Amino acid sequence: MSVAIGTLSLVIASAKKAPRYGSGRLSGKLYVDGHDTAVFRKAEIGFKPATPRQGRALLRLLDASREVYNASLQERRDAYEHTSQTRIALFDQFKQVTDLRGSRDDVLAWGIQPVRWAMQRVDDAFGAFFARVKDGATPGYPRFKGPGRWNTVGFDEPKGWKLNLDGTKKRATPHLYVQGLGDIPLSKAAARQFKRYIARGGEATTLTLTRANREGTAWRACVGFDKVAVTKTEPELGPDSMLGIDRGVAVLVAGAAAADFAGDPGQLLHHTDDLKQRLEVLRRKVERLQAERARYEQYGNRLRRLSKQIAKAHHKASNLVENWARHTAKQIVAENAVVVLEDLNFKNMTKSAKGTVQDPGKNVAAKAGLNRSLLEGAHGKQAQWVRVKAEEAGRRIWGVNPAYTSQRCSSCTRIDAVGRVSRDVFYCGHCGHYEHADVNAARNIRALGHAAEQAWVAAGRPLLERPKPRLRRRKVDAASVRQQRLSKTTTGPGRL
Ligand SMILES: [Zn+2]
Repeated sequence: MSVAIGTLSLVIASAKKAPRYGSGRLSGKLYVDGHDTAVFRKAEIGFKPATPRQGRALLRLLDASREVYNASLQERRDAYEHTSQTRIALFDQFKQVTDLRGSRDDVLAWGIQPVRWAMQRVDDAFGAFFARVKDGATPGYPRFKGPGRWNTVGFDEPKGWKLNLDGTKKRATPHLYVQGLGDIPLSKAAARQFKRYIARGGEATTLTLTRANREGTAWRACVGFDKVAVTKTEPELGPDSMLGIDRGVAVLVAGAAAADFAGDPGQLLHHTDDLKQRLEVLRRKVERLQAERARYEQYGNRLRRLSKQIAKAHHKASNLVENWARHTAKQIVAENAVVVLEDLNFKNMTKSAKGTVQDPGKNVAAKAGLNRSLLEGAHGKQAQWVRVKAEEAGRRIWGVNPAYTSQRCSSCTRIDAVGRVSRDVFYCGHCGHYEHADVNAARNIRALGHAAEQAWVAAGRPLLERPKPRLRRRKVDAASVRQQRLSKTTTGPGRL
């Protein structure tokens, strides 16, 4: 049930059924209603192959799954380009896996799961492709993957691998067993991290292995736990506390209890400045290294070393942003019962650097410079983390249409074109109210969320429908599969 409350179209939902892959995860209208009792969580660890043999097997597994991906893509392309325009379903390709027995046992050395996983990725790519076609966007046909563009293999079911966190008879230390790879040793810290989810009822259901460097000497393993029980906590600022977040230059925030709008001073998150400073230092470093690298025309040790240093600085910057986003989100959720975010799915939210007629250049200063994309990413990541943390703590998250929230006076609610005297200060010509522009906007966002919350409570707190994942699977029924089989013109199992 999707409820339109007043002029707001609001969807409360849980992230539990969100797609696990791609940008669809926790984006758009995905909000948390505080009703979940269990959630899906991932834990990622780094590892090095235990033996040279295991290292080689990992690279072979990567190659095999890439071959499956490319072959599945080829089959679908051929079928689609044929005059009959046959569409091959994922189900059709799954059925061919058994045909590999005997003919291509090398591909099945790690079990069926990695093969299916690669086929699933093709299906995702086609799902996204057809969705783009439907939206009239630039379609971008799914591409074949070269060795440099394929770094992950996965298992969507707990088959062919097992976490042995207390060791086994053969090996007393914690390890991850994978068919065809043997035992991958786990550090004590990694085992502890996994055990935390298991202690909360989690069941290890998915596994991905990602090559972390080109040589394949460093890898990451990501284990997905289903049915992890949520640990509901009480909001530190009380059951009525509600926070509005404006995605501005200085990021935030107007806080305190929803009932007490007038006396609330509002606040800006201080570590935003700190983050900006540290990113600035890294940006200068990258610029210096890049200028130095530009002087080297030919490949050599010096150039390679510089490239590595640049990559390292970029990595460090993205880690800074990630940590900042997680920490602030944790704090926000711990303090507040309800959080109101801008719903960025509204088309009018596309803020250009120059600004619009209504909102002249709000972000000009922040958008100039190389850190722009990183800071923009910080806002998105923070919203993601707020949702993740809120889901676990049993909080509610509202998304509201942010139109005019930066031009409206939060005191007298009038919209005034001259309401903004500078980038940082909002001044109202009607009532004389003035304050930081981002705080004013955050107050307006909170007021919209407050109105939504009241309407929702008045309606008897209905459970609202979860939004549909962006990648929709086509339903396969037996009749259509038979039909497809009859009309299918491409060769089947021989392709792989
Ligand atoms: Zn006013």
